[in-house]
Amino acid sequence: MKYCTQCLYPETKPDLWFDADGVCSACQAYNNRGVIDWDQRRKEFIEITNRYRCNDDSTYDAVVGVSGGKDSTYQIIKLLEFGLNPLAVTAETCSMTEIGRRNLDNIRALGVDHVEVHVKPQIRRRINKLALAEVGDISWPEHVLIFTVPVRTAVQYGAKLIVWGENSQNEYGGPAAAADNNTLTRAWLEEFGGLLGLRVSDLIESTGIAARDMIQYRYPSDSALAASGVSGIFLGHYFPWDGYANALIAQAHGFETYPHTIEGSLANYENLDNGFHGIHDYFKYIKYGFGRATDIANNHIRRGRLDRATARSLLEIHDGKFPWTYLGRPIEAALAEIDTSLEEFIQITDRFVNKSLFETDNQGKPRRDAKGNLIPKFELGRVD
Ligand SMILES: [Zn+2]
Repeated sequence: MKYCTQCLYPETKPDLWFDADGVCSACQAYNNRGVIDWDQRRKEFIEITNRYRCNDDSTYDAVVGVSGGKDSTYQIIKLLEFGLNPLAVTAETCSMTEIGRRNLDNIRALGVDHVEVHVKPQIRRRINKLALAEVGDISWPEHVLIFTVPVRTAVQYGAKLIVWGENSQNEYGGPAAAADNNTLTRAWLEEFGGLLGLRVSDLIESTGIAARDMIQYRYPSDSALAASGVSGIFLGHYFPWDGYANALIAQAHGFETYPHTIEGSLANYENLDNGFHGIHDYFKYIKYGFGRATDIANNHIRRGRLDRATARSLLEIHDGKFPWTYLGRPIEAALAEIDTSLEEFIQITDRFVNKSLFETDNQGKPRRDAKGNLIPKFELGRVD
C-alpha cells in the first residue's frame, strides 16, 4: 500500500488521488490555500449571506445543522459574529452521549433558537443493525439525517440559506456560490451526502420498512426545493478550516472536551456526541487500512504541528485498534442498543476486513492478536 509523501493517507482512501510527486489530493488542496485570497472570500461570504438573509424578521437568516460538536459550535459562533440570526437544527445522533448533550445545550446558550428532530427509535435501531451488516456503517441513519433534516427544516421555516461546515471536496463554495445555477437539488444533495451505495429508497424496498417511517430520512422533492428557493454554502470555502482551531474557539465559548485521548483517535475534542463512533471508525480502518487517528494526524502534519515520522509513531499506538470501549463505555453496551452480541459483531467485522490489507489464516479468516487487533500486511507510511 502506497502513502502520500506529505501526509499519511494511503492510496486506499476513497476519492483520493496522487500527483506525479506522490502528494495526495487532500494535501494539494491544503497547499493551494496559500494562493486563496481569503479577504475576497470573506467579502463573497458577506455578499451571499446578505442576498439570502431574511429582511423582515419573519424567519431565520440561515439554517445550520448542529450535532453539538466543535465544528457546529464554531459555525454558530461565526454566523453570530456576522450579525446573522441562524436557526440551529439537530438531527439527533445515533447514540447521544451525555457530553454531547451538554455541548448541544451550550450551542443554544450561545444565543440561538434550536430545533431538534428525533426519529422513531425502533426503526432507527433496525436500520443501524441492517446498515452495519449490509454496508459496514452502523451510523448510516445519522449520515443520512444530518443532511436531510436541515434541508427539510429550512424548507419548512422558509429560511433561504443552509450553511454547512467543511467542504470535503474543498474547492467548491456550494450551490449558493454558483453564478449560473444556485438552486439546491436532490441530485446534488444525494451526491454530496455519501450514502455508501445504500439509498433510502432501496432500504424501503428491500426491508419492508414503511415509507411513512422514513419521512425525516428523505429530502424534499425538487419542486418543493425549487419553490422554497433554499440554497446552501460551505463555511470552509470562505474561511480557512482547521478542526483544531475550531475546537479552541468552541472551548473558549463553553464547549466541553473529553478528559482523555479518545479511543482510536489522537484528540479529545471531537466525535463526542455519538457513542457508536468507535465502531464506525473501526470499520473505516478494516476496509481501508486507516482510521480516525490518521485523519487527525494528517490535519496536524499539513499545518506543521506534527512531523510525519512522529505522527506515524502515534498512529502505531492508536489507529485501528479494536473498539473495546468508546468514551469509556464498553462495546457490549453499544451493541446492546442494536440487539447485537459481541460474537455477532466480530463475525460482521470479519466479512468487511480487507483481506489484501490484513493477515488471514488458512481458512481465509482474519487473524487477530491477543488484544483482538488485526495484523496489517502493509507498512504504515511506506512511500515507493
Ligand atoms: Zn497527503
